[in-house]
Amino acid sequence: MDITVIASTSHEEVYRVTDAASGLHGFIAIHSTQRGPAAGGLRMRVYADEAEALEDVLRLSRGMSLKNAAADLPLGGGKAVILGDPAKDKTPALLRAMGRAVESLKGRYWTAEDMGMSPADMAVLATETAYVAGLAGGPFASGDPSPVTARGVFNAILRSSARKFGSADLAGRRVALQGLGHVGSHLAALLHAAGAELAVSDIDADRVRHAVQAFGAEAVPGDRIHAAQADIFAPCAIGAILNARTIPDLRVGVVAGAANNQLATAEDGRALHRRDILYAPDFVANGGGIINAAAEILRIADRKPWVEARLAALDATLGAVFDTAKRENRAPSDIAERVAEKRLVKAAA
Ligand code: NAD
Repeated sequence: MDITVIASTSHEEVYRVTDAASGLHGFIAIHSTQRGPAAGGLRMRVYADEAEALEDVLRLSRGMSLKNAAADLPLGGGKAVILGDPAKDKTPALLRAMGRAVESLKGRYWTAEDMGMSPADMAVLATETAYVAGLAGGPFASGDPSPVTARGVFNAILRSSARKFGSADLAGRRVALQGLGHVGSHLAALLHAAGAELAVSDIDADRVRHAVQAFGAEAVPGDRIHAAQADIFAPCAIGAILNARTIPDLRVGVVAGAANNQLATAEDGRALHRRDILYAPDFVANGGGIINAAAEILRIADRKPWVEARLAALDATLGAVFDTAKRENRAPSDIAERVAEKRLVKAAA
């Protein structure tokens, strides 16, 4: 296996990882260890070329620094990517090779499940490295993070509603929910239990059918969910859903969801603010997942109260972001970045 250093001025460590025997071709990026060991998932997908994969791992690892800082966890930001089609190219040998690469960093980077990976894949990595979270079994295993992520997003919806509508009561509020996967399905159940009306979309028709039956949700054509007339838009599927094309179509007062990188550009956060739509910055709203994994990385014995306390602190951070945004009349997305960046600098001092 070859692990070569890629020089970077923005990140602490970046490596190209290749293994001829298994066909592994990927990158590991450690953006920051100022707050603690870098943590962030392993993603496998088809990239146009190596440059695109490198750009992705650099962007995602910085995002993890911000997310971990926003959640006030003693963790830095890192990420790993593998170039390839998970359906065709993923083999135990390739995963084991990646596990060896992670192990070689001696705990400066902790990996976990991300796009293209499953809990079973994490178990394969764990045969080669101790630095993997999201395992199904073991003394500190945190398992599927999605229910905790959904709880955090639900909290963000309550807090945003209180700010925007003057009440956190969701009874009768209409939520347009994009994506009924791991997080979206849990969130739909929480929203339904709180009395919200749901409008949903998913490219998987079975998931939509289930939400219609279980929650009385209205099915909305996939490419129009962002334009549904509702109080809240909750993106829980794809990135860059908030962009120059979709933002003028929004007919909601609040956007709060689980999807990573919801804003196509930082300018889109400002565009939402100009439209007087309250946006709960994604890396704050969806921090429940990393809180769940952090309990495993940090080997927290009594994980339930610890996770609850961190979720409450995350909610308080979102409240503080909204306070500052209001006071300065600026986009919450810009304020949240500033808060997280400050926590990185403070940790470094
Ligand atoms: P998932 O793959 O289980 O679910 C995504 C769902 O979105 C699927 O049902 C899929 O069919 C659907 N979908 C895909 N494209 C769509 C489209 N164009 N329109 C409508 N639906 C579409 O993923 P997940 O784990 O539920 O995560 C959802 C989002 O939240 C992702 O962006 C993920 O990165 C982010 N996130 C997840 C977690 C977690 O704990 N799972 C934590 C933080 C952030």
